[in-house]
Amino acid sequence: VPSRLPHVGTTIFTVMSALAAETGAVNLGQGFPDFDCDPRLLDAVNDAMRAGHNQYPPMTGIPALRQAIAAKVQALYGHAYDAQAEVTVTAGATQAILTAVLAVVHPGDEVIVLEPCYDSYVPNIELAGGVVVRVPLTPGTFRPDFDRIAAAITPRTRALIINSPHNPSGRVWTRDDMLRLQELLAPTDVLLISDEVYEHMVYDGQPHESAARYPGLAARAFIVSSFGKTYHVTGWKVGYVVAPAPLMAEFRKVHQFNVFTVNTPMQHGLAAYMADPAPYLALPAFYAAKRDLFRQGLAQTRFRLLPSEGTYFQCVDISGLAVPEKDLPEADFCQWLTREVGVAAIPLSAFYGNGFDQKVIRFCYAKRDETLKAALARLARL
Ligand code: PMP
Ligand code: GLN
Repeated sequence: VPSRLPHVGTTIFTVMSALAAETGAVNLGQGFPDFDCDPRLLDAVNDAMRAGHNQYPPMTGIPALRQAIAAKVQALYGHAYDAQAEVTVTAGATQAILTAVLAVVHPGDEVIVLEPCYDSYVPNIELAGGVVVRVPLTPGTFRPDFDRIAAAITPRTRALIINSPHNPSGRVWTRDDMLRLQELLAPTDVLLISDEVYEHMVYDGQPHESAARYPGLAARAFIVSSFGKTYHVTGWKVGYVVAPAPLMAEFRKVHQFNVFTVNTPMQHGLAAYMADPAPYLALPAFYAAKRDLFRQGLAQTRFRLLPSEGTYFQCVDISGLAVPEKDLPEADFCQWLTREVGVAAIPLSAFYGNGFDQKVIRFCYAKRDETLKAALARLARL
């Protein structure tokens, strides 16, 4: 059949995880923890199943979980979303973002993405028939370049997709960034899709600047998060979206014919577990310790460290390594690193439409300390 996505192959995360499994490499590629979640969360889900919560939940998600989400967002970011009309539980952030795009992007509408960006955004826009407008983040620092974003906005711009904390760079948008974005969008009708899946992974005392904190942004935004990241359960595929009621009404029209709804027992378990904010409030200290362990080890090597202010990703520049393979394209270097050194990583070029190669690769440090140490021992010889 003629392909709807002719430029798309298998995602880099699938490719590198398969290669890591095949070669026995330490997998610091695809972003997922190699440790289990809190047993209390498992008990909460098990209890829900045993209590008979095994049939379809409401299309929008169970009320208790929507209320818990609304309460959390209000407590942390000061914006009151109506749990009935403005919160929807999704099958992970991936489905939430696709559904938001399909709900609002008409064929021919322009949608701005900031490169490097998560690999699902561009195919999502293409599936909606939208026109992808790529604006680079500032080379080297990965900070937003508001002059270039402003220059990309036209009367046909329907939406802008942002992501902070940022995958792959680990950069975190500041209050000043959000204020500038709010000011920039104020005279426009541009919608915002704010991918905040790493909202609870911001380090060194910096706050997470959710779009929900900024009324001028919240009024036009789909804000997306993921329980997979927050609670170390990426395989559960449960996330959520919050948005003003008129936007959410359109979102739900698509959602109901996409997945219709999301598995019931996980929703009950998550709702019960979320009553205690301690687990997500502990995440910055938990992951900052892993980041620091990993960075201290890498500082002994020839990899040049880039900042990791948030997420669970550490980017490194490979151009100073002592091996000839440093001159390979990033993607080939990552294949070599996996096969010959025994550590899987993700090439940053995978996050660019034109495969831009800047000799930077991404490691995931959401791993047991032993795993990180095993990877560091292998990387030390480069
Ligand atoms: N957005 C970003 C920036 C991500 O890193 C991820 C996870 N890889 C997702 C969205 C998708 O999240 P989920 O696993 O909940 O679908
Ligand atoms: N978000 C994860 C990452 O960036 C991957 C998720 C996936 O495999 N789709 O590594």
